[in-house]
Amino acid sequence: MVTDVQVARKVTSINPATGEVLREFEPASATDVAASVDRARAAQPKWNNLGTQKRIAVLHEFQRRLNDRRSSVAQTITAEAGKPLVEALLTEVVVVLDSVRFYVENTYAFLRDEHVAHGSLAMKTKSGRILREPHGVIGVISPWNYPFSIPATETLAALVTGNAVVLKPSEFTSLTALALAELLHDSGVPNDVLQVVVGDGTTGSALVNARIDKLIFTGSVTTGKRIAETAAARLLPVVLELGGKDPMLVLDDADVDVASAGAVWGAFVNAGQACLSVERCYVHRSLYQPFLDACVSKVKLLKVGDGTDPHTDVGPLIHERQLQTVESHIEDAVKLGARVLVGGFRLSDLGTNFYAPTVLADVNHQMRIMRDETFGPVLPVMPFDSDDEAVCLANDSEFGLAASIWTRDRSRGESLARRIHAGTVMVNDVVSCFGISEAPHGGVKASGLGRTHGRFGLDEMVRIKYLDSDLLPSVKKVWWYGYGEKFSRQMEGFVDMMFARRWGTRLRGALRSAGAVTRKGRL
Ligand code: NAD
Repeated sequence: MVTDVQVARKVTSINPATGEVLREFEPASATDVAASVDRARAAQPKWNNLGTQKRIAVLHEFQRRLNDRRSSVAQTITAEAGKPLVEALLTEVVVVLDSVRFYVENTYAFLRDEHVAHGSLAMKTKSGRILREPHGVIGVISPWNYPFSIPATETLAALVTGNAVVLKPSEFTSLTALALAELLHDSGVPNDVLQVVVGDGTTGSALVNARIDKLIFTGSVTTGKRIAETAAARLLPVVLELGGKDPMLVLDDADVDVASAGAVWGAFVNAGQACLSVERCYVHRSLYQPFLDACVSKVKLLKVGDGTDPHTDVGPLIHERQLQTVESHIEDAVKLGARVLVGGFRLSDLGTNFYAPTVLADVNHQMRIMRDETFGPVLPVMPFDSDDEAVCLANDSEFGLAASIWTRDRSRGESLARRIHAGTVMVNDVVSCFGISEAPHGGVKASGLGRTHGRFGLDEMVRIKYLDSDLLPSVKKVWWYGYGEKFSRQMEGFVDMMFARRWGTRLRGALRSAGAVTRKGRL
């Protein structure tokens, strides 16, 4: 149970590029969180009863307003998370604008009752329907690396299906979450239907322990496992979008120029702090040296700096702890024989959180850089000799979020993709699957449970109810009480009629069972 004992701590929003304190917050206490959930619970039925069309209209209005305010939202994201403004626009704002397009186009049909045809002869007199109903109050806990697109796509899916949401954003990016809430409220989502509780892990834990009906969590494996334990104790349904160690496989027929450009973008977008980023790269030995040369020369062209500078390609890391992880992984790799081809040091002249984009060669699976999530601007590259070996290396990981395969032969890439243990495999691209609103997002193994985005993301936001309605309300059912030898023989006949191997036996079974239809039960 989470209590209110410690409230002295503060949550501080800091610009990672400059160190400027943007705002300090009093974190929400367990009592505050419980009260938010209660308010959300009280407000949810009215929001649900509004009807799908009206909720869709609210989302449409949100889309218009977000488009109008896209520059200021992107600026807030860059100020708090450090990424280049153009990345804030494309990988955050545009992803959300398009996800609204998906929800607007698909939610009405998704929520419509679904007729279920009954195949069994015994059940033909019943009409069946699948109803999709909101869970009630959905808790959303989100990370700092995509502080707008992750909570927004999840929150929008929950809202449009009739749920209320209590969102606990990362303690590093509270302002971005508050900007999202303001836009939603201005667009017509009632204040109690979407609430933000600002705070750190303690506040997050309070939300997990509050009276929510489902939790959508995005964050690290460590936190995800902790949450899963708490959730298991009370059978709280959860979606866990966790870490990754995504492999990139460059086959012997790949275009080196294209694949190296993809590797550099995939490894350094958002300074490598992307769950879907290229965390390990495997290249066929015949292309290994040209690929490394191409990566190094491309990395040398990258401009590292403040995300507000339009020429910046790579921004700062979020905080000192993240830099230390990157440094420790590189140190470990070098100690075990890896070569640093470019980068490998802090860029202290730029500020406290900048690290030079780094390419490592001669890495292997004994090194932490190939096993643990680094979440920083490092591209470790390792050679392989056959497609089978590449698949084995890709699957030799506790994670399974996404992977990419690079080849001029699409069908070869697609058939290898089927052998990779991951939630998503892209052929000849990387990371951008997150921007495909129709595509389910999520992982296997330690990368998590469940899916967000697309049709499967909507599925997570609803409970399934089966509604069965009998078409002959004044007829007693054949299988009700009134058992006896005659009835047993009739039922043996019925089973023969339905499932016997030979048509003759089926026919005899039909004749034997016919009397059951008109029989009168004992009760
Ligand atoms: P984190 O696990 O430290 O924090 C995530 C969120 O959980 C934050 O809001 C945090 O305050 C909260 N939290 C921390 N402890 C908690 C607790 N005990 N109970 C409840 N909530 C708690 O992760 P992070 O550093 O913010 O994010 C980086 C991680 O997220 C990486 O591992 C990355 O791969 C992963 N991630 C995954 C996806 C995905 O879609 N699979 C997307 C983005 C990031």
